[in-house]
Amino acid sequence: MSPDGPGASPDRADPPPPPIRPVARAVLGMASAISRLSRRTGFGSGSVIGGQFAVLVHRRLLSQLTAGRNVALVSGTNGKTTTNHYLARALGTRGPVATNADGANMDAGMVVALGAAPDATNATLECDELWLPEVLRQVGEAVVVLLNLSRDQLDRTQEVRAIASLWRDALATCPTRAVVANADDPLVVWAAGGALEGPGARSITWVGTGSWWTLDATGCPACGGRIRFGPPQGWSCPSCGFARPSCDLWLDGDTLCTASDETIALPLALPGRANQANAAMATAAAARFGIGTQSAVTALAGVDDIAGRYRTETVDGQQVRLLLAKNPAGWQEALEMVDSSDAPAVVSINARIADGRDPSWLWDVPFERLAGRFVVASGERRHDLAVRLGYAGVDHACASSLSEAVAVVQRHSGRHRDTVIDVIGNYTAVQDHIGEVDR
Ligand SMILES: [Zn+2]
Repeated sequence: MSPDGPGASPDRADPPPPPIRPVARAVLGMASAISRLSRRTGFGSGSVIGGQFAVLVHRRLLSQLTAGRNVALVSGTNGKTTTNHYLARALGTRGPVATNADGANMDAGMVVALGAAPDATNATLECDELWLPEVLRQVGEAVVVLLNLSRDQLDRTQEVRAIASLWRDALATCPTRAVVANADDPLVVWAAGGALEGPGARSITWVGTGSWWTLDATGCPACGGRIRFGPPQGWSCPSCGFARPSCDLWLDGDTLCTASDETIALPLALPGRANQANAAMATAAAARFGIGTQSAVTALAGVDDIAGRYRTETVDGQQVRLLLAKNPAGWQEALEMVDSSDAPAVVSINARIADGRDPSWLWDVPFERLAGRFVVASGERRHDLAVRLGYAGVDHACASSLSEAVAVVQRHSGRHRDTVIDVIGNYTAVQDHIGEVDR
């Protein structure tokens, strides 16, 4: 795939971004003071509240801070943070990068990240699915990276087809620089198609990620007919002909292939097919910044820690690996990552606002894949999990914390000195576990 985009050549330095305007600089200074006060008084990192103040008093701040920079916006239900980390690492081969690596993915988090990197010509920003249209309107031309759409936070987000419609309308009306889209998700393909109707009829890079979660895309977004999937890949709607586009870059096992006949091994430090898909998307996006496929892969392959996720830690003498899964599609990916082990595992969920208050999605997760292993249910909704595990035929117990879960595992089956116990949790459950490990 030939690089074509804002950066013409990897050998040429990007021009510096324009200096931040005085009023914007003053607002960012006040936001920073608020963040420091928040940290000192024990209300967390403070970056979000500082950013919220900044966007409240300066409505054009995001627009001003992205002007003159090459910006990527990474959105989708699953994999945003990892793909954003990957893309930031690839863009880092060209110089400093502004990025909201902490996953604060609304306008407040974006302005804090941009304000912290005033010299970065390139920026990659993770963007909440519902915020994407508004951010696109403020940022102007950007490389838009669309990963996937599936059910998530049932009480907050909209039905996935409604989100796909919002994306499509935004891409049809906003002047994007380019779109990089997952060809294996019919909803994403339909949404991305808006770009072809938009100002300047921008081009789309189609990426074959091999996504295998199809339960949220059985209805054709174009006509309401039934999408027919595979095998082994591909999909189409027999009613209207809407079908998977041919790809510019795709995954073939552990290898990335491009339409220009490149084949590049993908030796990732992070596990699982989902992260291979994230890496493929990031590599395709990096090409839009003038970064070659091999350079991007070399840069991102070593990423091994995404804001604490995937970390292997020791808890009471037992090695544990923390994995995040927020919704049925994400849980299916995480369960596949741990499939090869028969060691005990810990699964953990909360149902706070950031997770979605409604945990009924548990019944769409294939916990049957854990059958034959001893599993400890943890988190505030461990009893809901226990009922689900019981129906899945999984031998299980409950524990109120990570250290108690490790103790339960050790009482049940002895200390697993040479084995890493996988701990899969949803958003705040993993944050709680990270906090417990770091104490
Ligand atoms: Zn159709």
